[in-house]
Amino acid sequence: MEFNPADNIQDLQYFGEFGGVNPSISDSSTYTFLAAKSMIDTFEGNLEGCYLYSRHSSPSNLYLGQALAAMEGTEAANVSASGMGSISSVLLQLCAQGDHIVSSRTIYGGTYAFLKNFTPKFGIDTSFIDITDLNKVRTAIKPSTKILYCESVSNPLLEVADIKALSEIAKEHHLKLVVDNTFSPLQISPAVLGADIVIHSLTKFINGTSDTVGGAICGSNEFIESLRNVNNGASMLLGPVMDSLRSASVLKNLRTLHIRMKKHSENAMYLAKRFEKDGYKVMYPGLESHPQHGLYTSLYNQEYGFGGLLTLDAGSLEKADELMELMQKRNLGYLAVSLGFYKTLFNAPGTATSSEIPLEEQKEMGLTDGLIRFSIGLDNHIERTYKEMKHCMESLNILTLSRL
Ligand SMILES: *Cc1c(COP(=O)(O)O)cnc(C)c1O
Repeated sequence: MEFNPADNIQDLQYFGEFGGVNPSISDSSTYTFLAAKSMIDTFEGNLEGCYLYSRHSSPSNLYLGQALAAMEGTEAANVSASGMGSISSVLLQLCAQGDHIVSSRTIYGGTYAFLKNFTPKFGIDTSFIDITDLNKVRTAIKPSTKILYCESVSNPLLEVADIKALSEIAKEHHLKLVVDNTFSPLQISPAVLGADIVIHSLTKFINGTSDTVGGAICGSNEFIESLRNVNNGASMLLGPVMDSLRSASVLKNLRTLHIRMKKHSENAMYLAKRFEKDGYKVMYPGLESHPQHGLYTSLYNQEYGFGGLLTLDAGSLEKADELMELMQKRNLGYLAVSLGFYKTLFNAPGTATSSEIPLEEQKEMGLTDGLIRFSIGLDNHIERTYKEMKHCMESLNILTLSRL
């Protein structure tokens, strides 16, 4: 049977402590032991199924982790307080002083800053490369390389990583392929395609209500256990733990992810097609004009579409700012960072977050000052939205491709 992430979530069965259809929320930081000996055994990892302290694990966090592992097709998952809490834990767990990371150059700004400015303090060095060029990936690998890092669909240009090919390179060189799958939670299943570790910012599509930050790490039992190890586990010792009340609420939102994702994709596809036809410079993996459209279609779980993110080039930063302010005024969405909300969110990522890329190359890639990133919402009537957006663009004289 074909792998289907949403079916895997649906197929989980929960019986709450009192027979509730949702598991009871564990509202405790610490847990009692009937025998003193079992406390020691739990500490030393010799006793399964006992809770020790909620920074290590809690029933609510394990339930959410189990659902996310089912979604990604991994043995286990560990949830954390934020996407960055997951990313930093994974990178610090896998690397020691003197180690090297090969990373895509177009990654989330926080991850980029962590690798560029923070991990060098611990002697961990990163090469940022164009992940879509497999030869560049191969050449960047050194004897000290431990990790190949990328996002399945990248920020902000929506470049698609060839996870199958990257996993072959990773295996050949004994590297761990770590993939941030935040932009494509059901559409792409990196672990099924060969990734060793899959990371999510739950803050975005998975929770979907823009009311919390959260993160998750999906991987083998062995790796997830290593993160929780009381003596040397990054998740345990850095401590980015999610609160049980919140993980229970994220789990409930996760159950409607497939419905939301289909609608996000449908709406984004509609707008991308219309705007492209109108002559605007749009980037969307669902468009044939997208450089990795073919690759995406060879990797994705078709029924969830091409995702909720698209970019549009307004020509200049000034135009982008004007357009975003006008769209917000007309209640077409919010001028805000983040993504995966029921309302459309937009912001101009600019060129600042991609300073590793030479200006000339940035231009070539389409990473321009006027770029607006849209996270398309769950609008019930997308044609109405299209007409109003079009009206805003026309009234500001936003340039079409022929005049850019
Ligand atoms: C938002 C985001 C993160 C960081 O997640 P937080 O929950 O904000 O810490 C990491 N990667 C990607 C692709 C993101 O969009």
